Amino acid sequence: MILPEAIKELIQKGAIFYVSHSGGKDSQAMYSNLCKVIPPEQLVVIHASLGEVEWPGVIDHIKRYVIHPPHIVSAGKSFLGMVEKRGMWPSAAYRQCTSDLKRGPIFKCIRADLKARGATIAVNCMGIRAEESNARAKKNPFSLNKMQSCKTRDVWDWLPIFDLSTEQVFQTIQDAGEEPFWAYADGNERLSCVFCIMGSKNDLCHGARQNPELYRKYVELEKKIGHTIFMKGKTSIPLEEYTGISADTNLRR
Ligand code: SF4
Repeated sequence: MILPEAIKELIQKGAIFYVSHSGGKDSQAMYSNLCKVIPPEQLVVIHASLGEVEWPGVIDHIKRYVIHPPHIVSAGKSFLGMVEKRGMWPSAAYRQCTSDLKRGPIFKCIRADLKARGATIAVNCMGIRAEESNARAKKNPFSLNKMQSCKTRDVWDWLPIFDLSTEQVFQTIQDAGEEPFWAYADGNERLSCVFCIMGSKNDLCHGARQNPELYRKYVELEKKIGHTIFMKGKTSIPLEEYTGISADTNLRR
């Protein structure tokens, strides 16, 4: 991994690098690469847990492969509780789930940890890659986070594996002598919430078969609030219709 000069300078200045680790392949490859170039005492792992809506076992998977004890953070509310209260699911345009349940707790942890160390520079490392989507490809891989910076601290956002392909990500994990989370080998393309509002049909169907009780909760919540996760134009598409899987007959494989 070739480090940009700006990152080398931040290391020299004592910046703390906070790795947002979801347990997915991109986080895993990012952490593996960062361990080779960032002094261990300047590296911190954070996992924003979404509780019951994330893949069971993901925290154990993270712990298995990191040498830095991860900070497991969470918001004071659950994903499904948040949806029910609002009466609507989040959408790509209004990702309240990411902002409230992931970004918020992660930055809270960063601010507290930075203060406790007496450090003043944080680098928020995220495993976002250009190849994932057109919107992601337009992101700046290194920028000052003005919202989180203030007189007493600088917070930078860095995407260390921005240019890696999916193949390179899996290769990085393999080269480190590690395994990606089991759901990939079993068919998942991405690892996020089991039923991500932006998930592929493949991942939603796999998630439903592996997690029938959680699937039922999503299906029932759609009915309860009268709002569906997916739409076609202005037409609602219930989750069961979208996946073709009935919550009543869905049995764990
Ligand atoms: S994985 Fe999907 S549903 Fe879960 S918080 Fe992220 S965007 Fe929202």
